[in-house]
Amino acid sequence: NNGLCVRELEAEYRSGELALGKVSFTLPEHGIYTILGPSGSGKSTLLRAITGLLPEYRGELLFNGSSLREQKVLMGLVPQNYGLLPWKTVKGNIRVAMNIAHPRGQSKQAREAQIDQWLTAMGIAELAERYPLSLSGGQQQRVAIARAFAIAPSLLLLDEPFSALDAITRETLQQLFLEHWQANPATALFVTHDVDEAILLGQKMIVLPSSKNDPAEIIDNEEVFA
Ligand code: ADP
Ligand code: ADP
Repeated sequence: NNGLCVRELEAEYRSGELALGKVSFTLPEHGIYTILGPSGSGKSTLLRAITGLLPEYRGELLFNGSSLREQKVLMGLVPQNYGLLPWKTVKGNIRVAMNIAHPRGQSKQAREAQIDQWLTAMGIAELAERYPLSLSGGQQQRVAIARAFAIAPSLLLLDEPFSALDAITRETLQQLFLEHWQANPATALFVTHDVDEAILLGQKMIVLPSSKNDPAEIIDNEEVFA
């Protein structure tokens, strides 16, 4: 039972309207899984439940056999709008995340060297001392991806990370993401509304239905192309 298991997850906001209706699926560890579904189908709510940002939900979320409510799982989040701290430099943003994730991790020197490696890997070494608001969307998204990978998370959660980018930048970042995931295979959940992106990146697709009464559909990409 290694991996992520979602059992009858159900949630609503204060309005009382269901945001997620009894969603169930199981995903093996170390894969990229894309979450598709129309607007309002609960994609963000699902990620929020997993990260712990949704205070109340029914059902169970298990990672490697135990409840996410009862264990600390290191998660890297790549939000839609980058989520960078505007008062910190690029390097500072990554440093803060590493300090929070691994407070007693490595020596300061080792950590700085690792930050430099990630910036180089993402092609943004020359932006290290810049502030986020002086960067383009694509550059900020590279920083957000570097930050997520740099903490070596067990769960990597991406909420439509490339949707605001132009087509060429998106393709570059999709490839960059795939390359780095292959070298650092976390269990990745990738929300997108782009079917091509879901097929390109994911091993499986989880399709949330527009009607909260219908079950989520799990599609194995290998079977789609067999
Ligand atoms: P998606 O990410 O697939 O567009 P969401 O998870 O954002 O879907 O939304 C699922 C449902 O919950 C929608 O009906 C939406 O209007 C509602 N919802 C989402 N966030 C909130 C919120 N903060 N307060 C109230 N309702 C919300
Ligand atoms: P995002 O997922 O884009 O970060 P949220 O879904 O959290 O944004 O919504 C941003 C703001 O709008 C929040 O304050 C949230 O409470 C509110 N909100 C979002 N959807 C709804 C909804 N359907 N009804 C009421 N408030 C909503």
